[in-house]
Order: sequence, then structure tokens, then C-alpha cells
Amino acid sequence: MAKHIFVTGGVVSALGKGIASASIGYLLKSRGLRVTLQKCDPYLNVDPGTMSPFQHGEVFVTRDGAETDLDLGHYERFVDTDLTQDNNVTAGQIYEAVIRNERKGEYLGGTVQVIPHVTNEIKRRITCLADGGGVDVVITEIGGTVGDIESLPFLEAIRQMRLDNAIEDTLFVHLTLVPYIKTAGELKTKPTQHSVRALRDIGIQPDVLICRTERPLTEELKKKIALFCNVEVRAVIDARDVESIYEVPLRFHTDGLDDIVLEKMKIEDHEPDLSRMEQMVERIKRPGREVDIAICGKYVGLKDAYKSIVEAFIHAGAENDARVNLIWIDAEDVERSGGAEEALAGCDGLLVPGGFGERGIEGKILSVAHARSEGMPFLGICLGLHVAVVEFARSECGLAGANSTEFDPDTPHPVIDLLPEQKEIEEMGGTMRLGGCACRLVAGTTAREAYGRDEVVERHRHRYEYNNDYRERLESRGLVSAGVNPEKNLVEIIEAPDHPWFVACQFHPEFLSRPGRAHPLFKGLVRAALDRRCARCDDTDCDVRAAAEGGAS
Ligand code: GLN
Repeated sequence: MAKHIFVTGGVVSALGKGIASASIGYLLKSRGLRVTLQKCDPYLNVDPGTMSPFQHGEVFVTRDGAETDLDLGHYERFVDTDLTQDNNVTAGQIYEAVIRNERKGEYLGGTVQVIPHVTNEIKRRITCLADGGGVDVVITEIGGTVGDIESLPFLEAIRQMRLDNAIEDTLFVHLTLVPYIKTAGELKTKPTQHSVRALRDIGIQPDVLICRTERPLTEELKKKIALFCNVEVRAVIDARDVESIYEVPLRFHTDGLDDIVLEKMKIEDHEPDLSRMEQMVERIKRPGREVDIAICGKYVGLKDAYKSIVEAFIHAGAENDARVNLIWIDAEDVERSGGAEEALAGCDGLLVPGGFGERGIEGKILSVAHARSEGMPFLGICLGLHVAVVEFARSECGLAGANSTEFDPDTPHPVIDLLPEQKEIEEMGGTMRLGGCACRLVAGTTAREAYGRDEVVERHRHRYEYNNDYRERLESRGLVSAGVNPEKNLVEIIEAPDHPWFVACQFHPEFLSRPGRAHPLFKGLVRAALDRRCARCDDTDCDVRAAAEGGAS
């Protein structure tokens, strides 16, 4: 039978509960356990797919096509596993299921209530993750901050799970903040005490406290927190700020977190193997060179909107022995200035990420035009492919006014158009082309070379697609169809001719990048950008060139 770890958060939001949960998952997996993770989100949307990136940040897409919270991205990256739609539960899904059951008459005339009907449905969703066997530990992160009204049913459900199970089969981990008050020159434990009290008020006594702090947590402070919060001193974990998120599990391990989890849950001990993460952190912290890559998008004010892209660049940088400096460019600024030359001056590469809606589109097209004409390495993702095709059609094929029908429904040249199966769809939620689809790579292309394989499965999230009616015309002017979906004959990757590295894909490669196994397209882009930087540098004796010639992978 699987054991359950519940992770809650207190004091303030944004303490990194997702990364803390993912780190616990990583540590347990590295000790030989089979782990899965789940996020419970207290909002009423059925999934975050209908929310603006400004509200919610990135929508992470699983292989089976679920639109999920970005924390699932952290889970997949740390635990190196593919999650499914069952791994993200929202209050919207819970209430939808309960109401559906009520309409079917399944509650036999009873009054349908939060306790037990909603809490039972929550417990069912938590326990079903271990149903098929094959899982030793389920880690469930409860979204929101203790004290929020909307997360109460989730907290009540996990409180009951402690009673439903043997004591060693559940563990409550609470993440809190121990702020440093400058004027007093001290770390303060009171917010942690209050947040644990709020948890105890609803019947949950945490077993382990993970304390986010700017300064080291002294033994004395740990003792104080332990005493006031009723936990063992050993179970007060110092979660000091670190340079890289991949260092978090290593710090937790140094402070004994995995030991105490195993001991409290009476799980047989196995020696952990943390070497892969240690090497990764070492490479991130001490890169031999650096490179500047521009991201031209619409949501650049909110970095969470591009979470997996940022991580993919960290992975790709580490494998190229380079720090990737991301230069965020607002597409609307480029649009206003009428060209991308100034915005991209000094950049070694360009990425145009996914997005929705017309705002900033012409700015993205200008930045792609600059990268294509200047030989600047370029990667376009989803909407980034759309703008690359539009730009090529207008500039190289004489198709004036070419556009995607998403931005101009009356364009004379709809080089990007709705997928046929999308034309009848009216509902917004969960109706895009979603999840893993096969892509056959064409021999001799940059993409085929980067992947080193003939076929890949990549994750999608879009309604619009390269219009095959224009394929012949675009190909005749040199636009390469480098990857094609074999079932539907859809172009999934394009490449520009006469360019060192210009690739755009209809899917989202960032969702598959993992620490220590960077995605081939990100790795390729970073490498091409480094080559360009070196080629443009006239200092024959510079360190960057020496490092490049020293041969990074
Ligand atoms: N808005 C575009 C579409 O729906 C692109 C989506 C994306 O970039 N994820 O097809």
C-alpha cells in the first residue's frame, strides 16, 4: 500500500511549495522509492487552461494532454517521470464530479455536503493515484496558503486521511517563512508559530517544518520553533535561499530531510544517489562562458508565464558549459519602434515562445525577420512557428497580407489556419489539440541532426496550424518542412534556408527538457548562439573562445 506525504504552505504564498514537493520526490526517488506527485488547486476552474498567463503563469501540458498547474513541470523535471491528468486536481473538478453524482442520484436521497461528499471525492482523487500499484509514496501538494477559505475542504480531507490510515502511512510537511528583520538584525519565528497554529486549529499537526529563510537557521532557533510548534528539532529543516532551484534537494538532504521522512514513515533505508543533481548544480554555478538569448513575447512582465522555457535554457546552458542570460523583449515595444535591430543588438540568439491573441504579433514578426536576415540562431515555439511562417510568406513568397486567421480572419493568405477538427468546436476548456503527438523528422535537417532520431513524440497545445494549401508555395521558396505528423500529415517543424540555425516547431519542446537531459532543440539553439558569439568576437585570445575550443558537449 502506498504512503502519503502532504505538503502545505503557510505565512505567504510563493515560498516554493512546488519545488519543495518536487525536491522531496527527487530525494525519495534517489533512495530507490517509486514516487508520484499531485497538486491540489483550490480554484473553481476545471483546469488552468482557460486562465490568462498573467493570472496563472504557464499552463503545463502532460503527455496525455491535460492542461495543468506549472508545479507539475517541476515535478516532472525533478522526479524525471511523465505525469497524467490525474496528477492535478482542482476544486472545479471535485465539485463537477460531486454535482454530476448528485444528478445521477448516487447519494441516495442524502443532503450533499462539503463533509463528507466533497472531502470523500478529494480523498478518492488522492488515493486513486496509487490504485494500479507500482507507487510507494504519493506526495500531494495543497495549493494556496493555510488560512485561505477555499483550501479548507482539501485540508479537511487530508486531516481525515491521517485517521483513515496507520500513523506511519501519512506525513504532514509544512513549508513556512522565517523572515529576517533588518532593523532588529534577527530571524523571526512568530509567523511560523502562527501558521502552525492555524493548521492545528483545523486538526493537522505537522510532522516536519521546512523553513524558508535568507540566513542560516541556528540550532537555537530550530529548538525554539520545535518547542512552539510541537515538532522534533530534527524535523525543523533549514531551507536557506540558494542560487539554483536544483540545489534545493541537495540542501534538504544535508539538513536531514529525507532521513527523517523515511524514519517517520518507517520506510526501509537505502543510500541515496544524488550525483546527477550535484553535477548539474556544479555546471550551473560555474559555467565556462555565457551567451545572451532574447525572448520576444507578450507576457514578458511575468516570468512564470515561461517557466519551462526558463528551465529548459538552464538545462541547455549547463550542457553547453554556458550561462544563458535571457534578455526579455516585449513584442509590443518592437512593434512600436518599427524594427527589431535595436532590441536584438548584442543578442546571440532569439526565441519566440507560444502565446495567444493578436497583441504584439507584428513585433514578433519583425524580430523573426531580423533573426532570419542576420543569421541569428532562432527557435520558434508554437505561436513562434506561426509568426515564422507568416514572415517567410510575406518576405519570400510575395504573399502580401499573409497571416494566421487567429489574428486576421479575412487575410487573403491564411498560411496559418484553424485545424479542421477545431472548426466545429464551441467550448473553450480542454478543446485544443493537446498532448503528445508523433513527429517524423526529415533526413538532412537541423532538427533531425539535433534529435539524432527519426521520430519523436512532443507535446502540443494549439488550435491553429501550418496550412497545407500553402505548403508547396512556401517549400518552393526554400522553407523546409523538417518534421511532419504521420497520421494527419501536419507540418510540425519548419526551417529557413541559408541560415546557420533557424528552427520553429508547432509543439512545446520546453515541457520535455530535464536537468541533465536538455531538450535537443534548446541545446542546439544555445550551441548555435555560442558559435555566433565566438564568430563575432575578434579577440583571438578570449576565454570564451578557449572554452569553446576546449570542447563542451
Ligand atoms: N494561439 C495559437 C494557437 O492557438 C498558438 C498557441 C500556442 O502558442 N500555444 O494555435
